[in-house]
Amino acid sequence: MIIMNKAATTEEISGVVNDLKNHGLAADVSTGEIRTVIGIIGDESLISATHLETLPGVKEVRLIETPYKLINREYSTLFDGKTESRAVKVGGVTIGNCEPVFMAGPCAIESKGQLMRIAEEVKGAGADILRGGVFKPRTSVHSFQGLGSSEEGAEQALKWLREAGDKFDMPVITEVRGESHVEIVAKYADILQIGSRNMYNQDLLTKVARAGKPVLLKRHFGASIEEFLSFAEYIAASGNKDIILCERGVLPVGRGKSYTRYVLDLQAVPVLQKETYLPTVVDPSHAAGRRDLIVPMSIAAIGAGASGLEIEVHYNAKEARCDGQQMITAGELRFIIECCKKVNKTVRDFREEKT
Ligand code: PEP
Ligand code: MN
Repeated sequence: MIIMNKAATTEEISGVVNDLKNHGLAADVSTGEIRTVIGIIGDESLISATHLETLPGVKEVRLIETPYKLINREYSTLFDGKTESRAVKVGGVTIGNCEPVFMAGPCAIESKGQLMRIAEEVKGAGADILRGGVFKPRTSVHSFQGLGSSEEGAEQALKWLREAGDKFDMPVITEVRGESHVEIVAKYADILQIGSRNMYNQDLLTKVARAGKPVLLKRHFGASIEEFLSFAEYIAASGNKDIILCERGVLPVGRGKSYTRYVLDLQAVPVLQKETYLPTVVDPSHAAGRRDLIVPMSIAAIGAGASGLEIEVHYNAKEARCDGQQMITAGELRFIIECCKKVNKTVRDFREEKT
């Protein structure tokens, strides 16, 4: 991190950026209330701190030890002097302020009627953002692949998603499974989701980041928190800091039956909040893989400080073509939202009292 003098001029700032370019490096320029800080993007061994410190306007060069630097909470304190989290705004919804945000909808969009009905129901239950999968990551090629498996189906489903979002006044989120989907998804969706299986796909991360829309990155089920943040850094390094992190469960341990699809790592929520200024949400649906755990795990996630939840909802779980076993009804969603708002308030009031 190159910390500029408080009085550094725009010429001095671009001088540093050009010097980095000449060394084959890119720059992340952040100007905050206190000063400008320039993050180096690329192989730092290509340049020396001693050289950088001789450049006009440079106060000091500081090493951030973690492999993620641009999304490190320490970075924002350098130019803003603030330790507050950075909220992501999408439409009229803010993810990462005091109120939790609820994203809900079907696992997969199956038909216009199905999507419209679920959209109306989740809106009625208090949801803020509509989810719906078009390009589905599926383990078996013999399962329903989502309407995205054909070109016409994909665009049709994305149009319905947009229409449902507009009709019920909710921003919409859907997954980008491959690089070839980025353009079409960015045309219709407000938030681009990168699924768990793709967390390590750095080319996809870079391409999605450049679409210029907020990105929700799901933690890979085998990834450490450090890896998760290191891959989120790829999005930030492509010039997009509107990143929402999503904990969705890690692989279970042991040889016997685990009784759940994954293990929801709720410790990750406060740890991520300590390490980065990005908001973290939790997906209890894919973590549990069973509907009876969605209510308790949602409440626990908000209790742990999550900025929101992503939950799968269907009016007829038996009929759902994908993940029926973990679908809850809009009635259950309403209960979750009401409970979570109370839990959030209690936890926040308690924290304020203590500080
Ligand atoms: C999803 O949210 O639709 C999904 C497939 O989740 P994950 O990538 O976490 O498995
Ligand atoms: Mn699903």
